[in-house]
Order: sequence, then C-alpha cells, then structure tokens
Amino acid sequence: MTDRPAASDLIDPTLVLNCGSSSIKYALISADNRTRITGLAENLGLDTARIKHKNLEGETQEISIPGGQHQLALQKILGLLEQYRFVAVGHRVVHGGREFSAAERVTPHVLAEIKRLKILAPLHNPANALGVEAVEAIYPDMPQAVVFDTAFHQSMPPVAYRYPIPKALYDEHRIRRYGFHGTSHAYVSDRASTLTDKTGKHGWLTAHLGNGCSAAAVYDGESLDTSMGLTPLEGLMMGTRSGDVDPSLHIHLKRTLNMSLEEINDMLNNQSGLFGISGLSNDMRMIEQAAADGHSDAKLAIEMFCYHAGKYLAALSCALPTFTGIVFTGGIGENAADTRARILAVMRHFGIKVDNDKNDTLIRGAEGSFHNADSAIELWVIPTDEEYRIAQETRAALGIDTTDKA
Ligand code: ADP
Repeated sequence: MTDRPAASDLIDPTLVLNCGSSSIKYALISADNRTRITGLAENLGLDTARIKHKNLEGETQEISIPGGQHQLALQKILGLLEQYRFVAVGHRVVHGGREFSAAERVTPHVLAEIKRLKILAPLHNPANALGVEAVEAIYPDMPQAVVFDTAFHQSMPPVAYRYPIPKALYDEHRIRRYGFHGTSHAYVSDRASTLTDKTGKHGWLTAHLGNGCSAAAVYDGESLDTSMGLTPLEGLMMGTRSGDVDPSLHIHLKRTLNMSLEEINDMLNNQSGLFGISGLSNDMRMIEQAAADGHSDAKLAIEMFCYHAGKYLAALSCALPTFTGIVFTGGIGENAADTRARILAVMRHFGIKVDNDKNDTLIRGAEGSFHNADSAIELWVIPTDEEYRIAQETRAALGIDTTDKA
C-alpha cells in the first residue's frame, strides 16, 4: 500500500491561506497535489487563540497563542512550514468586485483594490488583506497571488448579473449580482468535464451545499448564472441564511415589530435557514437525526431545503445552452445521499433517473456518477477542493510551472 508521505514528497509546494476575521485556515500543497499539510488558527485576538497543526504524518499538534492576532499566528504558521520551502503563497479573497475576473499577482495596486472593495465585503476583505500584508512583512520577496471567490462568476452576462432596479445604482454604486463559492464551482465543473464520457461542450449545474449553499450554471468552463447575488444571502436556503425572501420583508418587520435593519440582517443571515425552520441546529446531520426521530419541524426543514434547491436548479437550467448534468458538492452535497435524491425528485420534469444504490455509496469523499443509463442528464458527486484550485490558480497567476513534478 502507499507509504507515509515524507518531506521529500512536498515538491515545490504552494501555501494556501484563507484569512477570516478571527481565523486562518492554511494548506501547504505539493505541486502534484499528492501531499499536503493543513491547519487552522482560531479564536484570534482572544485568550483562547490557538493553532491546530496537522503535520505530514497526520498527527495533530496544538499551539496556544493567547491574545495572538493574525500577524503572530502567521509568524508561527510560517515558522512551522518554512522547512518545506514553499515557492508561493495564494490567498483566498472573498470579493473582487467588477475589477477582478481572474487570480492576480499581489502588487501595491491589487492590495489597495482589495481594501477598497471592503465596501462589498466588510467582514472578509479587510481580513484577507491583513493576511497578504502579514506574509509580506515576514517574507518580503515571497511571490503572492490572490484568488477571488467572485472572479469565476464575472463571465455572467448582464441579463443574469443586473438587478431590475434603477440603472444609476449599477453605474455609480456597483449594485449587481456577483456570486460566490467561485473556486468550488470552477473546480467541480472542470472535474466533471474531465470525468464524463460526453464529448463536446458541457453544460453543468453545480450545487455547492455546505453551511453556505449556492448553485451555478457553467457552460464550456464559464459561469453563466449563479444563485448568490450582491451578497451570499441571496438564493438557496442554507444552514443559517434564509436565501431568497420577499425584499419587502424588511419594511414589514420594521413597521410591525420595529426591528432595525441590523437586526433584520442578523436574523436573515444567522438565525434562518435550516436552523430557523428546525429550531434545532444548522447542522444537517443533527436535523436528519431529529427528523428520523419524528421531529416535525426538522422534517419540514429538510423538505424546504430540498424544494428550494430543486426549484433553483430547475430555474438555473435556463442559462445553459446544453444540459449535461448536475454536480453535487459541499458537506451536504458530498454526504447526504437522501437529500440529493429528494432534490432531484423535486425536478420531476427533467427525465432524471437516479441509480439509488450508487447514490448511497457516494459519501465520505467518494467521487462518482449516480445516474441510470436512460437518464436525460448525468448526476455526479465531486468532493470540492478549493485549496487545490487556489494553489493551481496561484501558480498560473505567478507564472510558476504547473506541470506534474512527480
Ligand atoms: P462549510 O460551508 O462551513 O465549509 P461544509 O461544506 O463542511 O460547510 O458542510 C457542512 C454541512 O454538511 C453541515 O450541514 C453538515 O451537517 C453537513 N454534513 C456533513 N456530513 C454529513 C453527512 N454525513 N450527512 C449529512 N450532512 C452532512
């Protein structure tokens, strides 16, 4: 069987960083994507700040950094990894606005733009920029690139990305649909095009169902429409986010309950979705268990989740010139076979034929198809790998040879 990975397997690795407001996720990925080291710094700024580092042998090490902020955490992380001589750092950045439709090498101009775009992602972009600056302070000569969550969806046509509201709001204030989860939709649609036997141009609906949920219509490698909009709140029902609601809900709640805009925003982002309907949890596993035990609100939460997802996928199919198939990914999409089958049952007019036995085997990281031979479209489960995609895009943006070094 395979040997344990050794340091010599980590050839020309790229360090991928995902800096949030109080956490940093990291992955050191070899050029051939066969070996990686991962970790997480969490609770940054608090007494409980710590780094959970998983080494090459898969052993976990915990390092306490009480009160530590991004800079200190990154110093420690880079210290743990420097022996592996990484060749580049790639950062996940949430919002690239209209300015970025692909990954970019970090320059003073690019960094300034990321900071300016905090108007569109007030919690995320500043933390992402902090990560870039912290690496720069420690390794001034390290090539760095930024990979935007929104960039993949910049290929959407105006008919999909504009809101039917006054033009000046778009022209002067950039109010439009941007879409998110771009690296995931890009990765799984690319992978599906590699795996299918169908030749020619492919049209995929990709369903990223995790805590955050979004779907995209991808044709010939380009996103033509997606369910998230100006912010990640639009679209599908999610773990704690409502997805689409009547926009007049805001004024109604203000008038009837005197709720403030901030309270309504918090309610729609943090107290809705699976959590809001079930009253139990945002975690699909827990809700499935409660539903199996007869909890009626948990049952309704699952039914609504599947109905909304199926309805959205059906609508997004309108964006595709040809419809090759549906790809499921994300924690729910990769594991919840029953949920996949229920979503497909909602799309009852599409000639979809599910191979239920195969569907049941596609869990816990398994990749494969689960359509019957007579199904009108293909059905795939493809575990997402956003870190790998970010590493690939980083190397491409920096002009680093991406050929297999194994
Ligand atoms: P995030 O969007 O935070 O990255 P994930 O993609 O990890 O989240 O997805 C988290 C969701 O996946 C949770 O709702 C979790 O319950 C669900 N999930 C994970 N494993 C399973 C499983 N075996 N069955 C059902 N749902 C699962």
